[in-house]
Amino acid sequence: MLNIVLFGPPGAGKGTQSERLRDKYGLVHISTGDVFRGLNPNSELGKLAKSFADKGDLVPDDITIAILESEVQKFPNAKGVIYDGFPRTTAQAQALDDFLSSKNTAVSMMLSLVVDEVELKTRLSKRASKAGRPDDADPEIIQNRINNYNEKTAPVAQYYDRQNKLIEIDGEGSIDGITDRLFVAIDNQNSEK
Ligand code: AMP
Repeated sequence: MLNIVLFGPPGAGKGTQSERLRDKYGLVHISTGDVFRGLNPNSELGKLAKSFADKGDLVPDDITIAILESEVQKFPNAKGVIYDGFPRTTAQAQALDDFLSSKNTAVSMMLSLVVDEVELKTRLSKRASKAGRPDDADPEIIQNRINNYNEKTAPVAQYYDRQNKLIEIDGEGSIDGITDRLFVAIDNQNSEK
């Protein structure tokens, strides 16, 4: 199975690029952010997730891990999965390793999109007007998401680096250019096997 963790700060372009990787390699795309936004807003779980997401805080690990696992279980015949926005803590990364190993598979690689913080903020405020996401509209919430990324999520890259699975990709420039760099990285990694 090709299990790709597509990693990067909020606004790095994970969603856009995930769709392109999904189409090219025939993978399932799982975005925990999309799953949370898709929950019934009147359900207990939906209300809980929204209470964290609206502030730019991370949803607690136990809830997020359970949601992710049940999402993966929906695609028993997938030839691979793109994990977009998960894992965001080292506890989630550990849980993903355990979960995949129980299925006799593993994370193949982490592709980490590297984008400067000023550029991220510009992209997020542009997305706010287009995608109608309240967490993109408020500069304080954006800053909180970036701070959470730096404190809690950035260490996840080191977690995969220790497993020799981290590949950094320049996430600036044209969208097509970034896609090409991702394709090259995946093809190189696959041909080494
Ligand atoms: P995203 O669409 O990836 O930017 O996620 C939107 C929001 O959903 C985040 O700001 C978090 O509140 C929540 N979220 C998404 N994925 C995770 C995760 N792996 N761990 C914790 N919270 C998450």
